[in-house]
Amino acid sequence: MALSSKFLFEVLPSMSLRALLYRRPTEPQAIQVVHDKAIYLVRVRRHRQARRYTLRIQAATREVVLTMPPRGSLKEAKAFAEQHGGWIAQRLHRLPEATPFVHGTVVPLRGQPHRIVHRKGRRGTVWIEIGEDGERTLCVAGDAPHIDRRVGDFLRREAKNDLEMASGRAAERLGVEIKRISVRDQASRWGSCSSTGVLSYSWRLILAPPHVLDYLAAHEVAHLVEMNHSVRFWRLVERICPNMRRAKNWLDVYGTDLHRYGMPQSDPDPARRPVTKRRARA
Ligand SMILES: [Zn+2]
Repeated sequence: MALSSKFLFEVLPSMSLRALLYRRPTEPQAIQVVHDKAIYLVRVRRHRQARRYTLRIQAATREVVLTMPPRGSLKEAKAFAEQHGGWIAQRLHRLPEATPFVHGTVVPLRGQPHRIVHRKGRRGTVWIEIGEDGERTLCVAGDAPHIDRRVGDFLRREAKNDLEMASGRAAERLGVEIKRISVRDQASRWGSCSSTGVLSYSWRLILAPPHVLDYLAAHEVAHLVEMNHSVRFWRLVERICPNMRRAKNWLDVYGTDLHRYGMPQSDPDPARRPVTKRRARA
């Protein structure tokens, strides 16, 4: 007993002191790097496990992130980022251009190209027309400034619908129950599953071919059985989704590209969207 209390006494103060030292509340969150007359904003993150300075580009948000060790210095971080200015510029340049939803934009819907055409003066909101040649058009009524929002809302609704059905099918096969499904704009993941049975998906899955959306649904629903990525988990996914490997490959190759569509920064709070309130079918 005496030993353990002494141990506590000795360990606790130094731990809290260390926490205080590392917190550095006044430290800037980002640094500026100048390369070839262009200024780049680099977000700085201290990471407890980081052993060195590393740079990476988040394709979905076009953000440059520098990770540094807890004891690293901002001066060193800045020097490191400046040294790699050419790399930052090159990698950002290589990212696909952002594609807003405006008249003329071609958007993939369930993996098939659809051209956005503004039908000013027509009734309705958004609908699909298929021409005799098989060409698909995403028609949008109303005023031009509202096209982006209308197309965005339409795609989210379609995503919600398809994801509810696909998740319902997977849940039925595994004999599990889904509590709720929400669809949002997640930059870093395609889907997630909470221990309370709530599934979240990225609406952008509606842009991918249906077998990719089906795979994500199978993946998240399988987490209701196995809350991990063990061998058992993957076997379960493959059992209800024979296209698993093909879908994973597709995401590896084309997944990043789906993030260029629409304007994610103008999205209202997803929790307030009416589409998230509907219940899962099937
Ligand atoms: Zn997973």
